[in-house]
Amino acid sequence: MEIEGVRFSCPNCGASVTIDFKTRVGTCDSCGYTTEFKRNFFNSNDKVINDLTNVVKYFKEKNYKLSARFAEEAMTIAVDNMAAAFVLAYNEAFIDEARNSKSIARFFVKAKETSVDIEELEPLKKMFLSCMTDLDDHEEDILEMAINGNHASEILEFTDAFSPYLIARRANIDFLTPRLKELYKRCAAKCSVPKTCYALLNSIKTNSESPYNGNTFFLRTKTERFYNDFVLPVGEIINGMSNPTLRAKFKNAYERQRGDFEKKMKEEN
Ligand SMILES: [Zn+2]
Repeated sequence: MEIEGVRFSCPNCGASVTIDFKTRVGTCDSCGYTTEFKRNFFNSNDKVINDLTNVVKYFKEKNYKLSARFAEEAMTIAVDNMAAAFVLAYNEAFIDEARNSKSIARFFVKAKETSVDIEELEPLKKMFLSCMTDLDDHEEDILEMAINGNHASEILEFTDAFSPYLIARRANIDFLTPRLKELYKRCAAKCSVPKTCYALLNSIKTNSESPYNGNTFFLRTKTERFYNDFVLPVGEIINGMSNPTLRAKFKNAYERQRGDFEKKMKEEN
């Protein structure tokens, strides 16, 4: 069979193959040989790539309906393309009349089960960045998805584009859950994520719960909680940065900040 000029041929005899895109199994029209194609084979299909260019273009223009039309088009070949699936989930959650708030969470569960291809990461990144505020509850899911994809440079781009923005806008330190701390550590260990580390370091002074805000170090319990649940974990993340030069630089800045914090904490006791 042929789709948009791309012919699928039999690995055994070279004749044309008919593919069931749902099962990814191709059956040769000539010799009957059956073969299972990988997800990546369909994700890197020219028509799929072309459709996804439009998916991203219209998504960024906030023409979500048209973006979804191209997503459905891409999914006729790449049935479980995660970038296309995200657009459908986004429409379900925020655009369709019968909004379903669970669809984004369901998307991330599926993204976790499916190891996301590098072809899917790039369009996903562009779309995530254009609707970041809608995804602020899903920072952990996003990092997990990028890490499972296992492409270091993509993880770096994802984390370092997404997390600093969110960190700077967090209303308190509750966002730094043990799971998120673990994910930051894993990202830092893989590719340093300097912008994310910088944002964390900055937050020691700027987060609205920080005792630097209004100089509230005298609120002992609150200050101690901030120290234990934020200042120390940030240090752990920075200590694990993979690039030694960056790590040394960040560690220096961190130790100064921590020392200053401890001094102020003591002065109030
Ligand atoms: Zn054949």
